Amino acid sequence: MHFRISLILLAGTLVSTASADAIRQTKNEHYDAFRQLGTDLPTANVYRTASGAPGKQYWQQRADHQIKVSLDEDLQRISASQTVRYSNHSPDTLRYIWIQLDQNRFRPDSTARLTESVGKDGGTREEESRDTLSYLRLIRQQGFSDREHGFEIESVTDSTGSALPHQIVDTMMRIDLPEPLKSGQQVTFSMAWAFNIVDQEKIWARGGFDYFPETDTYIYFLAQWFPRLAAYTDYAGWQHHQFLGSGEFTLEFGDYEVEISVPEDHIVSATGVLQNPNQVLSSEQRRRLTAARNSDKPVFIVTPEEALSNEGERSTGTRTWKFKAENVRDFAWASSRKFVWDAMIHRQDDRQQPEVLAMSFYPNEAEPIWSKYSTHAVVHTMEVYSRFSFPYPYPVAQSVNSWKSGGMEYPMITFNGVRPEPFEADADADAEDDVESDNDEAQPDPPTNTWSRGAKAGLIGVIIHEIGHIYFPMTVNSDERQWTWMDEGINSFLQYLAELEWEEDFHSYRDNRSLLENVSEYMISENQVPVMTQSDSLLQFWPNAYAKPAASLVILRETILGRELFDFAFREYARRWKFRRPTPSDLFRTMEDASGVDLDWFWRGWYYSTDHVDLAITGLREYKVSTANPEVEFELDRAERIREIPETLGQIRNREEGRTTRVERFPELRDFYNEKDPYTVTNTDRNKYTDLLDKLEDWEREALLRAAEDDDFVYFIDFENVGGLVMPLPLNITNADGSEEFLMLPAEIWRFNHRAVTKLMIRQQPIVAIEVDPRRETADVDYSNNHFPGRIEKSRIELYKEDPEKRDMMADMLATLRKTQDSDDDSARAVPLEPTGSN
Ligand SMILES: [Zn+2]
Repeated sequence: MHFRISLILLAGTLVSTASADAIRQTKNEHYDAFRQLGTDLPTANVYRTASGAPGKQYWQQRADHQIKVSLDEDLQRISASQTVRYSNHSPDTLRYIWIQLDQNRFRPDSTARLTESVGKDGGTREEESRDTLSYLRLIRQQGFSDREHGFEIESVTDSTGSALPHQIVDTMMRIDLPEPLKSGQQVTFSMAWAFNIVDQEKIWARGGFDYFPETDTYIYFLAQWFPRLAAYTDYAGWQHHQFLGSGEFTLEFGDYEVEISVPEDHIVSATGVLQNPNQVLSSEQRRRLTAARNSDKPVFIVTPEEALSNEGERSTGTRTWKFKAENVRDFAWASSRKFVWDAMIHRQDDRQQPEVLAMSFYPNEAEPIWSKYSTHAVVHTMEVYSRFSFPYPYPVAQSVNSWKSGGMEYPMITFNGVRPEPFEADADADAEDDVESDNDEAQPDPPTNTWSRGAKAGLIGVIIHEIGHIYFPMTVNSDERQWTWMDEGINSFLQYLAELEWEEDFHSYRDNRSLLENVSEYMISENQVPVMTQSDSLLQFWPNAYAKPAASLVILRETILGRELFDFAFREYARRWKFRRPTPSDLFRTMEDASGVDLDWFWRGWYYSTDHVDLAITGLREYKVSTANPEVEFELDRAERIREIPETLGQIRNREEGRTTRVERFPELRDFYNEKDPYTVTNTDRNKYTDLLDKLEDWEREALLRAAEDDDFVYFIDFENVGGLVMPLPLNITNADGSEEFLMLPAEIWRFNHRAVTKLMIRQQPIVAIEVDPRRETADVDYSNNHFPGRIEKSRIELYKEDPEKRDMMADMLATLRKTQDSDDDSARAVPLEPTGSN
């Protein structure tokens, strides 16, 4: 159906754009979704440019470390001595320096522990309808009461061995320098310290130990384990926001030499390159390592069988493993007699680092999925991430199974969870086996484990994610104490790209739902804060810091910029900030600077607001251009009248009743008007048309006559932005001949009205249907308003059984009541159906 539209002459007033004060340009409710970020971003300066690059006077501090640490397996304790050389590259003079003491988070008087409140994953107290105590929370409290935690600082001394005054403030320590440290100077100081390693399973920490009671064995994985320099920056000064548990770390780069003394039968994996293989590895292990350096498939350095027999032995001696790491912002390590160890080579097109040794360390309990997937996942991550950023910058990349589930990242080393479930044969078969195998206990079979689809995807996914962190933020050194999303969001985005390239239909999200589906659900939840919120104040941690920014980058790449522009700009961000410290504005500005596309609206909507995407098509009206020629138009008017407005009911029924009109009965009453209907063209009409043509400018007349000839269809299509977040409008248009067209209307369509717009389209072919976002690429939360004409939503409804139990219970109660009434007439009246309190 269509209407005709008459061309009108616009009165010659142009709406002029008002002042630069964009937020309140008008007296009404107009909201300018395209207002430039302007003062919301820090002012550009000599350290950070307005285009998002490091400025010509960009600087960052440096901290080089030498650490000797020993693990006491009887006491679950480590002790260490450490020397730090701190280089002041800032233009400022420093009278004191700040050190991070992350282990202090576990002290009973830490801000983190004192402020732990009920409510999970950022939920509010109100969400929990009643007081509950889970087993997990209970063992956490038990873990805390079992042992003392936190750093025991034994000494802080200068390079001559004299004690340095220092002050511990929760998870930070200030060291007062004997002389002010001027710009360009270095200071060297030493610390000796110890702490009790936390039981990770009880206390949920990023580092600790995992205990296997069946075999009385441990895996130790030490993270956030040594006093580290707090970052000193051009944008925040000292970053000494206390460690509350979520805002992980903000660190300085430096070189590390670390000597790790552990029980003799342990295998150690650590940040950096092993310096003394001849002292800690057998000749067979060294031979296998060389083989791994030439293998494009994982090769065992320690086989599962060897690890299993190693577990049974308990050596009393110790061995010192020496590692060296250059230009890293942190150092982590893991140690266990349980470790299986495999490795393979990853070759890349890079002069500095042409070969990277990918390695995995895991107990037999993690088999068989670890030897099958882990090292492959490490190499796969490097292949994909390097393409989107830069070649992997370090000589080794390691995946360590430290726990049952979860993951943590450090330079060159990652701690990853997911162990398969032990295989449970049926009980009878088990019993028979026990009888038969009584005599050969010497050769225990490696455990046979099964794994679910979710466990497989979980393992590959977590390894991609954690190895990915070696790029972001271990190399592109963003400030995680302030902005979790800068590393988690960017990394989750790249993880998603790497998963897509692992296998098709990679099972990464719950219920087989896509990233965008998950995120759209989060974006309509009440309990959320903007992405641009400090790490410890996020209400729903994972969706805020991981999924939402990741989804936004997927949309930015696939829908808004396109792959070519996005990939170029993102690589530029990675290149500019590799081994440097970017802030959010550096990312926002670089993506705009390198793509040539104004994205302020995008950052504002996705990062500074809690709006969601809900695009709707609410109307479509079809017209033909009116020729204004009465010879043409009157006929069309008549046809339209007949088509659109039915004969009146009264007239039809009169005719059906056989009623004749007076004029039928007296034909002499007929006149001119009975012969000519109201659509008859008169000379006056013709003259009016000629007058109209005469009054038009030449160009107007030409346009009108051409439109009359073209006879195109004119559409007015109404769209609504129900969710508030402005987005492009991807449209699938179905034409009358059945053909379909895809059309992308850029987000700028919302710039004059961010709630409702009407789009004019002139087309030769009639449109029969329009669907908004047919490829489901915008994270739209409601697709029921995306079709014109509307369509019937089809789904399946599940039949449910009404609960017969309930009815039976009522029947029973009634029967009981009746029985009481029957058997005891006097008391019957005293039995109330409900307690009323009156009897
Ligand atoms: Zn992460």
